[in-house]
Amino acid sequence: MPPRPQIVDALIIGSGPAGLAASLVYARTRTTAIVFDSQSYRNEGIAHMHSVPSRDHINPYEFRSIAREQITSRYPSVWFDNVTITQAVKKLLGKEKYDGFEVTDSEGQSHQGKKLILATGSRDVFPDIEGFKENWPQHIYQCLACDGFEQRGTPIGVLDCSSKTAHFTNMALNFDSRVTVLTNGVVPEDAAIKQQLRICEAWGASIDGRKIRRLVNNGPTHEEGVTVEFEEGEPLILGFIAHKAATVNRSQDLIEQLGVECVEPSMGGHIKIVNPMCNSTSVKGVFAGGDTCTPMKQVTVSMADGMKAAAGAGMEIAVEREMATLKLLEE
Ligand SMILES: Cc1cc2nc3c(=O)[nH]c(=O)nc-3n(C[C@H](O)[C@H](O)[C@H](O)COP(=O)(O)OP(=O)(O)OC[C@H]3O[C@@H](n4cnc5c(N)ncnc54)[C@H](O)[C@@H]3O)c2cc1C
Repeated sequence: MPPRPQIVDALIIGSGPAGLAASLVYARTRTTAIVFDSQSYRNEGIAHMHSVPSRDHINPYEFRSIAREQITSRYPSVWFDNVTITQAVKKLLGKEKYDGFEVTDSEGQSHQGKKLILATGSRDVFPDIEGFKENWPQHIYQCLACDGFEQRGTPIGVLDCSSKTAHFTNMALNFDSRVTVLTNGVVPEDAAIKQQLRICEAWGASIDGRKIRRLVNNGPTHEEGVTVEFEEGEPLILGFIAHKAATVNRSQDLIEQLGVECVEPSMGGHIKIVNPMCNSTSVKGVFAGGDTCTPMKQVTVSMADGMKAAAGAGMEIAVEREMATLKLLEE
């Protein structure tokens, strides 16, 4: 690899599907970029990733390592660093006083770039139920399109009591007719949520309103599944549980340091995209891609978003260069 320039075109924080897609665009356009990877991925712990054409059922570790290897073995303008970025600031860079960014990594090194791409992903927040963590993601799935198919043919629990309960139940019924909605002791007062439960019952699902005491992992496959123990009464043995955990931005600290605007927590709290064509954010020069900027958290969506962020940052650099040249020509 040639030596890194002092100021690269883009600093890409994150090397999941979003960051990798952005990196590939830069590799192919001979744009310089450093990609930072703290190696904390949202789909940690799963053996197979789905709904990605041509890569269905691939191990996500293999997916990331092929993507990275293709970039480093063929192209000389993108560097990968396995470090955590702890600080990110806007800064005037070099003699030209370029309005760019400086980031500092966990080893105390600083790196400068004209543009910054946040591809930092999100993190699932688990409900306060004993044994939840021990069953995630082996027996608890946040997305039935991602993981339902392989677990079909065993009883399913839908751990939810919200305006989305019928939606999850509708999907779960595609994989088995034995579906139980677990409200975990929540007695809905809201008429709309009561209606959701009535719809689920009409579809043949059972409603179990008991408070959960703990979840027990019975073994690695859905044949063994998970036992739900309640505060009272008989336990329930299920193949798996569908549960959409709340998510938070994995690198909320960097988002705040940069002053990037997010949507309301009730809407997901993800980074607000100002121009969806090029995934720009509220801070000039900062672009975002992947789970950290969308409620539709999927690999293919993240890849498309990463590509848009890379294109957006590249276009901004080109426009700035055009303006500077025009100014020189007019002088
Ligand atoms: C259990 C589970 C199973 C899933 N299965 C599927 C599936 O089958 N199909 C599908 O389409 N989707 C699936 N998803 C969703 C999918 O994993 C995400 O949509 C996707 O990984 C998002 O990509 P991303 O690049 O935005 O974030 P991630 O893949 O989470 O990557 C984030 C990157 O940012 C880095 N990072 C964060 N902060 C810093 C920092 N400060 N410094 C340096 N690096 C940093 C991380 O280390 C990582 O490299 C699943 C999710 C879960 C939870």
